[in-house]
Amino acid sequence: MDDLQALVDDIHREIAAHTERGKVADYIPQLAAVDPAHFGIAVATVDGREFVAGNADTPFSIQSVSKVFTLTLALGTVGDRLWNRVGREPSGTPFNSIVQLELEHGKPRNPFINAGAIAVADVLLAGHRPKEAIGEIVQFVRFLAGDETIVIDDRVARSETETGFRNFALAQFMRSFGKLDHPAEHVLGVYFHHCALAMTCRQLAHSGLFLAAGGRNPATGRTVVSRDRARRINALMLTCGHYDGSGDFAYRVGLPGKSGVGGGILAIAPGRASVAVWSPGLNRNGNSLLGSLALEMLAQRTGWSIFGA
Ligand code: GLN
Repeated sequence: MDDLQALVDDIHREIAAHTERGKVADYIPQLAAVDPAHFGIAVATVDGREFVAGNADTPFSIQSVSKVFTLTLALGTVGDRLWNRVGREPSGTPFNSIVQLELEHGKPRNPFINAGAIAVADVLLAGHRPKEAIGEIVQFVRFLAGDETIVIDDRVARSETETGFRNFALAQFMRSFGKLDHPAEHVLGVYFHHCALAMTCRQLAHSGLFLAAGGRNPATGRTVVSRDRARRINALMLTCGHYDGSGDFAYRVGLPGKSGVGGGILAIAPGRASVAVWSPGLNRNGNSLLGSLALEMLAQRTGWSIFGA
């Protein structure tokens, strides 16, 4: 695809014409107030080009997309020992499900469902106070994106702290199995704050570039992880990044991707580009309805699917 700018402009135009936009997440009060009409797309290529359309410079709540960054950070801290704490299998259940946890004795299926990301937050807390662990995550995301301006939206973090009863239930349940080392309030303090990172599509696309380029961010020249680790994080994004919608996303888009209930999706086209889309309305699996569609259009028209010839 020669003219990626024309392509993202076309996608933006076609998406704008859609009237069925899905449902904005309202279980986090601050997110319920977001206008579902927003749409942004940013493509950052491994050879240093950038193509954007729509609201690509409007910050939004990245929510569970942040789980890619905390996973990367935790693997850097404890390496493969992380897999004693959390599995690597798709769950086939909603992101906030509790049923599997009991059957599997408090060990979450994968790092991208809420329970798994809570276990990862527990790992990142080791030796830190919650504030310090949160600070490390913010620094890491700034480093990945090459952008020092990225911040946490404290209103979103507070909003979720006040209403995140289900996540408290998950954390307490895991603690009852001896699967958390720190008090639930501390672990969730870390979890809610990284979910409340506010980023634009442009920043998010940049922060994923290391996964598209074998572990090294070509824009900053910094190595983030080894080639093998980048490949494995991509594998987890493909199999688990969209919860019980992961199979459908792989079928339609064919790229590793991680969604968040803020309506953002980070998708990786290995060897080619990192792509961020944002449309706040969600489908019934809690993934961005039009964001998924935009990525489907992009993958189809560029031929970037990892399953293509
Ligand atoms: N912070 C959100 C929650 O815990 C993240 C969920 C998501 O983005 N899927 O419910």
